[in-house]
Amino acid sequence: MPRDLVELKNQVKAASDILDVISNYLPVHTNGKIHKSICPFHNDTRPSMQIDRKFQNFHCWACGVKGDVFSFIEKYEKVGFKEALAILARRANIALEEASPQDHHKIQLFEVMRWAQAEYQTCLLESEIALAARKYIGSRHLSGPTVRQFGIGFAPIDGDWLTKQANQQGISTDLLEEVGLIAKRNENRGFYDRFRDRVMFPIRDVQSRTVGFGGRILPDSPYAARGPKYYNSSDTPLFSKSDLIFGIDHARHAGAAAGFLAVVEGYTDVMMAHQSGIPNIVAAMGTALNARHVAQLRRYANKVVLLFDADEGGNTGVDRALEIFISHDVELAIATLPEGLDPADLLSKPDGKEIFQKVLLNAVDALDFKLNQLFAKNPEPNIETTRRMLDAILGVIAMAPSVPNQSAQLKQELILTRLSHRMGIELKVVRSRVKELQVERRKQEQRNASRAAPVMPAAARILTPETQANIGKPSGSAPVLERQLLQILLAEPGLVPDAKDHAPAELVSHSGLKRMLIELYALHDMGIPPDLDGLRVRLLDRPDLASVAMDLQQVGRGIPDRQLYFKKVIEGFGKQRVDADTKSVKDQLNAVGTDDAAAIELLRRLQNRDKPKK
Ligand SMILES: [Zn+2]
Repeated sequence: MPRDLVELKNQVKAASDILDVISNYLPVHTNGKIHKSICPFHNDTRPSMQIDRKFQNFHCWACGVKGDVFSFIEKYEKVGFKEALAILARRANIALEEASPQDHHKIQLFEVMRWAQAEYQTCLLESEIALAARKYIGSRHLSGPTVRQFGIGFAPIDGDWLTKQANQQGISTDLLEEVGLIAKRNENRGFYDRFRDRVMFPIRDVQSRTVGFGGRILPDSPYAARGPKYYNSSDTPLFSKSDLIFGIDHARHAGAAAGFLAVVEGYTDVMMAHQSGIPNIVAAMGTALNARHVAQLRRYANKVVLLFDADEGGNTGVDRALEIFISHDVELAIATLPEGLDPADLLSKPDGKEIFQKVLLNAVDALDFKLNQLFAKNPEPNIETTRRMLDAILGVIAMAPSVPNQSAQLKQELILTRLSHRMGIELKVVRSRVKELQVERRKQEQRNASRAAPVMPAAARILTPETQANIGKPSGSAPVLERQLLQILLAEPGLVPDAKDHAPAELVSHSGLKRMLIELYALHDMGIPPDLDGLRVRLLDRPDLASVAMDLQQVGRGIPDRQLYFKKVIEGFGKQRVDADTKSVKDQLNAVGTDDAAAIELLRRLQNRDKPKK
């Protein structure tokens, strides 16, 4: 139970001297009893914000912002009163309420993460075995202060380095396993490290707490050919890949000051930008930018700039951005880099910073970007190409979830007006076409829903306890196996390439699950992470399937040893494939009747089927 709020507020306020608190955030200049600081709430050049210790308040003479210590935290951290209270209480070591056992456990997980991050970093900075890692960091032009600011470390090549450190220092291996840094060996033979011979980039939440790692394999590592170049923590109680934004803890205030946050692709890009003095840069964690990312970024800046490589223009990223732009209250702009350069390359060049800044300033909003793209492909459109160009954009608008609030409708109206201008088509024609497309889409959804009707109860059934209990032993029956495959793949997208080799989509009989599998394999082939976010973009025509996919992922995440489970599912598919082939040969055998040569050939094939393949 929360304690009496007024009493708590007074206690926290008494323990939080406004000058001490603000000094933690901003440089404060003191002259006698006058304390001043550069105001963080407007574009301040001289210290305009005065802090009054006697009255425990602050006041900016230039922009007029004022208040007490709580309002400072609310404004600076962009949080509500309760969160501000919690931040200050934590700072003053005042317990808000009795910590629940879950909170307590979570704190332990954060602590074990902090411990691991420090171990990896000490190794990188001091150990002889980290020589190659230090060389690699140097080759990427990352400076010492950047290494420290971002907490970069190194996980050595031995299979159990971290496990050994933990045992020596009395750190719980169970907690380390829970945060995904080590895993159990088969048959209870201890633990092994999940990251080996990798440079470790801590992934931190908004409060700068390490919640996961991205590991970059050393280029000359013997493991380089076998594993992925980048390996991220799998999802844990602290880490959810699709919600996290790399660099947000450092970038958010800079974003508020600059008026926008820019999203790039890689960790190194983010760090190089910060190192070059462009701090309002973040990266999504290898997933496509989704609405949850945008909502987070939107807390700190009204405008989000997506930075694409020059050759990335035609892909789904632009349509995805356009869809978010249309359906969310955010200014979403797209910038493209000069051909063949990623941000880190560019920023390590002498004039790179200026070019990079210019690129960001030249970003155009997602709608203009799409239009420019279409006009570039059809410089002089005729009636037919104009119609197709219009439909390409209106199709995305029609797909966007309808938001019944006024500002969203106003935004759509503005978009239609702009389209009408740029394409030289009367506004009422544009309006009626978008209505047509929306009606078509709803009809399509209804058709899909009725077709999918028998699927839905089955999908819902997966979540019942009896089928949960089934999770330990994948059974042979086809639909169960098919569902289990999708559960695993949606929870562990890293397994998709393996699945593609051993469980081709043709083997899946259920039409909905088959579609999901086909799309996951297609994403992988295109080099896009085959995860739920990617899948949802490919299933815009099947919102029913997208929601089933989310349920499947939920179940998949509850499966304890996913690797082992996956192996069993794949074995099940192997067996099924043999059974299917055998049956088809037997059927043919019955059909050929008296033709001996054909029958003998088929029998030979049947025998070969039953032998294990080399
Ligand atoms: Zn101000």
